[in-house]
Amino acid sequence: MEAAIILPIFLIGVLTFAYLIKLVTVQEAVMHAFTDEAKRLSAEASFYPIDPFFKSRLANRIYGENPIDVKNIDIDNYQYLYNISGAAGMISVDLNYQVDIRLPITFYNDLPIYEKLVFRGFIGAEEDWEPMPFEDMEKETDSQLVWIFPRAGGRYHGEDCTYISADPREMLLSGKVRSQYKPCSICKPSEIKNGNFVYCFIKSGEVYHRGSCPVVDRYVISIEKEEAIERGYTPCLKCGGN
Ligand SMILES: [Zn+2]
Ligand SMILES: [Zn+2]
Repeated sequence: MEAAIILPIFLIGVLTFAYLIKLVTVQEAVMHAFTDEAKRLSAEASFYPIDPFFKSRLANRIYGENPIDVKNIDIDNYQYLYNISGAAGMISVDLNYQVDIRLPITFYNDLPIYEKLVFRGFIGAEEDWEPMPFEDMEKETDSQLVWIFPRAGGRYHGEDCTYISADPREMLLSGKVRSQYKPCSICKPSEIKNGNFVYCFIKSGEVYHRGSCPVVDRYVISIEKEEAIERGYTPCLKCGGN
């Protein structure tokens, strides 16, 4: 009796799983063909003022690579080398097809899938195109770490500020921390695995602790200055947050 109820549910579950795996596999194979042909179209764009074979080449390739599972390929809105808001040589194309999963159950219909690609043909530089200066490419995004009391809010501080120097800092335990700091004799943090948080006193004794150690009643963490500002912290009046 129980099997009569559970077995169909189990079978539907297995079939659904098989269906999803097959669907993802087919979709991935089609997408690969689509982007690969798009790449070729882009690479050859400087040779062809128009490419009349792209649609048939793409369709033939997808049918050839997925002879059973894909049907009703429809490639439309194919625009080749057009201009859009200052960019020349744009190409866009829509791909519609249906996936026919041949599972022994009529419960599933053919699934329509729609993909769209917009990309640029490789037609070389435009006359009014300014190359990006080398210094701009080298520029790194600003990154500055500041120290905050995560539970208290308020100010953010620079590395050397005396307001935070007496408080332990939250750090990830590593070989470097183990070599720089001594393990606390009360909370015995040396058993902790690397990659977990420990709390290090920088200026007083150079000891590291577990967060649960009675010595650690408050601590500071380092975060990006931008994030501190976003979280409502303001610069320390003494160190200016630097
Ligand atoms: Zn400060
Ligand atoms: Zn301790």
